[in-house]
Amino acid sequence: MAQVTRAGTRLDSEAIKKGLVGAGIPESQIEISEVGRLGYATDVGPISLTPLAVVGVHSHADVEKAVKYAYDHAIPITARGAGSGLPAQSVGAGIVLDMRSMDKIEVLGDHRRAARSSWPGGRHLYPAEQFLEGHGVFVASYPASTDMATVAA
Ligand SMILES: Cc1cc2nc3c(=O)[nH]c(=O)nc-3n(C[C@H](O)[C@H](O)[C@H](O)COP(=O)(O)OP(=O)(O)OC[C@H]3O[C@@H](n4cnc5c(N)ncnc54)[C@H](O)[C@@H]3O)c2cc1C
Repeated sequence: MAQVTRAGTRLDSEAIKKGLVGAGIPESQIEISEVGRLGYATDVGPISLTPLAVVGVHSHADVEKAVKYAYDHAIPITARGAGSGLPAQSVGAGIVLDMRSMDKIEVLGDHRRAARSSWPGGRHLYPAEQFLEGHGVFVASYPASTDMATVAA
């Protein structure tokens, strides 16, 4: 089984799951099965790296806990939206954070003159655009992958 070895510690998927639970991440949000991890091993690019663990984050607190745990144990950590990036930015061998549940949108301030919207992570671009239309503002970028890509602001 794959492991990360840093600063004298050896961590496999089970050990990382235990550590993440100890850090306060609910067990139900942590995926370490082989099949589950393989689902995050590629994006649209040519590189494949199977993560040791995947965390489905639901809140800023989840992100903070996972990032602190990864930092403390020198484990590489990678955020992932839809995985539609081309040069393998969203694959990683350590912990992958699946951001797609962090999809709440809040429109801030006077959006008639300058739109300031805030959403933390995994909002799919197309529904985000539809939501913002109702507030008279729009997303300023339209990648050809709009139907699948996520966006954070
Ligand atoms: C058919 C097709 C057409 C495309 N057309 C275009 C195009 O026209 N223009 C264009 O620019 N790109 C295009 N792309 C590339 C890609 O779809 C875009 O870059 C898209 O914005 C990636 O979004 P994603 O949610 O899939 O991000 P992912 O691929 O999951 O992640 C991309 C990067 O963002 C980071 N990331 C993801 N979520 C977060 C978060 N919440 N917080 C912090 N970091 C995060 C990841 O770690 C990674 O580094 C295309 C891809 C495909 C497959």
